[in-house]
Amino acid sequence: MKHYLKKNARLLFAAMLTLSACSGHSSKTTTGETVPETRTETVAGTKALHLEDLTATWIQDNPGDKLMPRSLFSDAPDSIIEKLHLQEGIPSSVSTFLVETKGLRILFDTGLGYPAGQLTNKLKDLKVRPDEIRYIYLTHLHGDHIGGLLKGDSVVFPKAEVYISSAEYKAWETMSDKANAQFAQMVKHYKERIRLFEFGDTLPGNVMTIDAGGHTPGHTAFQVGKLLIVGDLMHGAALQTAYPEYCANYDMDKDKARDTRIRILQYARENKLVMAGMHLPAPAFLPQQ
Ligand SMILES: [Zn+2]
Repeated sequence: MKHYLKKNARLLFAAMLTLSACSGHSSKTTTGETVPETRTETVAGTKALHLEDLTATWIQDNPGDKLMPRSLFSDAPDSIIEKLHLQEGIPSSVSTFLVETKGLRILFDTGLGYPAGQLTNKLKDLKVRPDEIRYIYLTHLHGDHIGGLLKGDSVVFPKAEVYISSAEYKAWETMSDKANAQFAQMVKHYKERIRLFEFGDTLPGNVMTIDAGGHTPGHTAFQVGKLLIVGDLMHGAALQTAYPEYCANYDMDKDKARDTRIRILQYARENKLVMAGMHLPAPAFLPQQ
């Protein structure tokens, strides 16, 4: 495993700029395949968003509709839940995002994995082969975000480098519950291609990494251009955009998760960023007014 260096990011970024300067409506990746700058396929459960020089495609991983149960937000009083008409649950999803920019394909999280996860089927419908994904950036290491990396004992993305914050990686190394088994499996199969980063590092594709700790110790948000990928900042957006002080019970450190949510929502608003969230309701983009 290599520790990720900022210098490498700058060199790569310079190389990518040179690459994209020669391109028209599509550009070549380092392995020669063509990456569209505008995605036009109409595939159910996906939505492409074009933001300046990148295309972000939302890919719904969960089959059917998803409601987070009201009981997941046990700190939120009934009066607020009723005012927002959320007694039956809060619209949500399990989502991943494919970002295509400057000749690179970057996948953010990998969803639930086999058998429930839809990611690989949808990539096929979008005409993207798993071996064309060169970079996978993980927001954190819960099972609904890393499940798609493996199918049983096989690696799903044979050429991808997998980026994880070092805070998150270290936290899971020392956890002893059964979730750790899935982490250990991932490390076993991807160990040569795992790259650790520190918050504040810039990754290939000019992707900024932002400390979003609280949900998990090393939970990460990623910013590329006007897109802000927020991972599990919110599990019930209809409640938590209006009342960011209420956590889902999944948040490991609720005080920190609340402070992070307030800080990042404010940052997105001030900078007019489009948020992309792994549990926002479909299609899981949230533009700012
Ligand atoms: Zn999650």
